[in-house]
Amino acid sequence: MELPKFVANVLKHLEEAGHEAWCVGGCVRDSLMGREPGDWDVTTSALPEETMAIFKGRAFPTGLRHGTVTVRSGADTSVEVTTYRVDGVYRDHRRPESVSFTRSLEEDLARRDFTVNAMAFNIQGELRDPFGGRQDLTDGVLRCVGDPDRRFQEDALRILRGMRFAAVLGLDEEYETDCAMDRNAGLLRDIAPERIQIELTKLLCGKNAGWVLENHPQIVGVFWPEILPMIDFDQRNVHHCHDVWRHSLAALMNTPPFPELRTAALLHDIGKPASFTLDENGVGHFYGHGKVSTALADDMLRRLKFSNAFRERTVRLIEWHDREIPRTDKGVRRALRALGEEELRLLLDLKRADNLAQASAYHGRQAEIQLAEEILDRLIEEDACFSLKQLAVNGEDLKALGLKGPAIGRALERLLNLVVDGGLLNERDVLLEALQKKESG
Ligand code: ATP
Ligand code: MG
Repeated sequence: MELPKFVANVLKHLEEAGHEAWCVGGCVRDSLMGREPGDWDVTTSALPEETMAIFKGRAFPTGLRHGTVTVRSGADTSVEVTTYRVDGVYRDHRRPESVSFTRSLEEDLARRDFTVNAMAFNIQGELRDPFGGRQDLTDGVLRCVGDPDRRFQEDALRILRGMRFAAVLGLDEEYETDCAMDRNAGLLRDIAPERIQIELTKLLCGKNAGWVLENHPQIVGVFWPEILPMIDFDQRNVHHCHDVWRHSLAALMNTPPFPELRTAALLHDIGKPASFTLDENGVGHFYGHGKVSTALADDMLRRLKFSNAFRERTVRLIEWHDREIPRTDKGVRRALRALGEEELRLLLDLKRADNLAQASAYHGRQAEIQLAEEILDRLIEEDACFSLKQLAVNGEDLKALGLKGPAIGRALERLLNLVVDGGLLNERDVLLEALQKKESG
């Protein structure tokens, strides 16, 4: 296992001062899997004030209550150094009431959630792995350290972390761990929505998110009960080969792993059960489900405290998923005006994924999506105008013509609409002339 220099340096300084120091947790797991670690955490026998003294000037007390010191090492890199720790009594299924420091690495590893996260590696190349994490990685197994029920009762967020690791790392939950996740799901009610949101977002972007969600819908239902009516909801429509829930999971698995897109895929049909009607031929319809899905999703995302930007984009994707695919220059320019390039590309990804998750006889939509994408590529290549900042005139030009205040904004919007709809060329003279005619006419 190769340690980056900025990490090896920190380990070396701690050891030279007479302490034990190990890389621990996610970075060990990821390195053993051949994945690039997101961050490098160090665990040490040194007390926080000892760590502060060893790295004085470049050590910052970022989490002293939990024994964590952030050490700047290298040009723009840093390492979190945490003292060997055992957790005190847990209350409310959340956080330990107190933590205390220990001089034992094994005790520190025992407080960690899963065996694959409870390994340590030092500068001499020694691996400490008291719970068989390495074997579990080889076998592709996710297993709690110790008794799963107890571990999930201490901190219910671990249930969702478990789903996240299974989805992202492609691990199978060991049987007892899997059962205990479901058994203790209700305890997630005690967990702060922000913490749930972070784990859920990572989970949704995992390569095995669909399987994991299919295996544990009731867990998701604890904080998002709106998903429950989707499960086994028969669509009674030839376009669909899955119930609403499995269709949503199939759509999710057909999308690239962008958080808003994956979230939109999961929730795009959440309004279907509430908008279901059956016609005289026994065929199911879901008129207006886009609107219902949008409203439900907006509420669900607010509840988990997603950022406004995340929520607004996700909800827009859901709202648009049911609209016609634009297949003309004008249609694509209008969609660009409303969504911008990045979001329109996400929408086309969502449309493709949604369509692929329907019965295979109805995959003909793929050609339409392809066409929209080709038009989009060409318009971007041609630098087509679809936003105010691309317009060949600006507020100053309009002021010079004598327009004032809100009239300026309105005139710019009007001009942009005309350009987008193909009624005017995006050229300064053309736009100014059109404006003068309108003002005098
Ligand atoms: P990544 O950083 O890739 O998301 P990670 O495994 O490093 O994954 P972190 O949240 O950074 O996850 O936590 C670092 C380590 O701390 C974990 O590997 C695990 O050993 C331990 N840990 C984190 N959260 C918990 C928890 N709720 N219960 C028990 N141990 C935890
Ligand atoms: Mg980490």
